[in-house]
Parts: sequence; C-alpha cells; structure tokens
Amino acid sequence: MIPEPAQYLLRFDDLCPTIVKTRWQRLLSLIEEFGIHPILGVIPDNQDRKLHLAPEDPTFWQTMRSLQAAGATVALHGYRHICSSFGNSLVPLHADSEFAGVPEETQRRWIRAGLEILRREELDPKIWVAPRHGFDAATLRCLRKEGIGVLSDGFARRPFTRQGMTWIPQQLWGPLDKPSGLWTICIHSNSTRKTQVEELRAFLKLHAARFTSVDRVLAEYKPEELSLSERLQGAWMLARVKLSRARKKRNRRHR
Ligand SMILES: [Zn+2]
Repeated sequence: MIPEPAQYLLRFDDLCPTIVKTRWQRLLSLIEEFGIHPILGVIPDNQDRKLHLAPEDPTFWQTMRSLQAAGATVALHGYRHICSSFGNSLVPLHADSEFAGVPEETQRRWIRAGLEILRREELDPKIWVAPRHGFDAATLRCLRKEGIGVLSDGFARRPFTRQGMTWIPQQLWGPLDKPSGLWTICIHSNSTRKTQVEELRAFLKLHAARFTSVDRVLAEYKPEELSLSERLQGAWMLARVKLSRARKKRNRRHR
C-alpha cells in the first residue's frame, strides 16, 4: 500500500554529545514547534573526529530522553562512527562505511556494545540507522539476533521487508513535495545552514499534519517484499541520487 497523499518522516543523523549545539537547537525548536516525532540517529560512542565539533554537551543525553518521552524513535546509528571499512553495502551510496565488510563477530560485538551504551542512558533503541548507509547481510543477522528488526534506509515508496528486516525507506535529504508514498528526510544538524532550517520550517508549516512516526508506520503498514518493478524503481532512485551527488562534487571542483 502506497500512502496518498504522501507521508513524511524526519530523521536526524550523527547525534552525539559533541554536535554543534546552536545548529541542533534550531532544529530542536522546529521539532517542538510542530510536534514532530522524528527518528534520532544516536551514535553510542562517537570516535569520529569529524564529529568532535564542540565540547561535550552535558545535557545531551537528557535531551534525547525527553525527545524519546515525547514520541521520537531512537535509532542505533552505528557504534563509534569510524568509517574505515570498504565492504559492499546493501545500500551502495558510499564506498566507505563502519560496518559493511567487517567480520560478523566484530559487528555483533559493536552492535551489542552500542545498544548497551544507549540503554544505559535510558534510551530504547528500536531501529537501525547505518553510518554512511553501510551495512551487509551480516549486519542484519546481528541486528536480528539482538532484537532489532527495523531499519531506516533503502529506496522505495513504502515500507518493505528484505532479509528478515522491516525497511522504512529513506530517500530525501531535504524537504520535497511528493504526491504519494512514505518519504524519510534525513538531516545532518551539524551541516544544516539557517536557510535550510527556514526551508524546512516553511515545509512543516504546510505539511506538518503529514509527518508521521515510526510507531505509526509500524502500526499502519503490513510491509511486504518489493515487487520486481518496485526494485527497479528503487535502483533508478539510487542511481539518480548518486548521479546528482557526483555532479555537485564536480561543480564544486570547477568553481
Ligand atoms: Zn552518520
């Protein structure tokens, strides 16, 4: 079933105590203003130097707990976010990743340790959000063994099942008006400029009622495998994203 009119989910990636607080704060006020129930991609033990952007925020974990209590869904966003593996991902958007290609036993250890850290902080991680979209069949086996059966990723217009997991698709990196389908907009707060926040605010003003939550999605849909034509459509969406990214990169180089 493809929803009509379109429904949206907001997903925030790279959440950890050393994010740029001013930028995150702007998005946080949008969440509150419009009563959004987003996906919070929390890194359990961030070791990625690129995300050490500010001194540790002592209120970070409490903010995550409050958002969770208000209906947000906490996602396990990797373990340490060190993307030094080059295995093939089931969603091949990037060459490097934290998990794809890593021995299964190591992945299991990381997933278990990550879940433990989040639970120690009184968070209840319900879904998986892979750093750099990088994960393989072994990652999914480990997640299932640890009781995580849902992930946010993949190109489709509805939630679906694949390799024993429920996939809630994630196809956008900014607001875009769509006639139908379920669309997840992924936002990296650290690099979100003021103009982008304003763009998101304008979109929310028009469409806040169409923003749903993971809990609702899981209650309202009965995900099934994608058909062949849906898989082809998904491959086409992925190719277009890769093409537009390559074009942007080329333009930046020529500037
Ligand atoms: Zn990330």
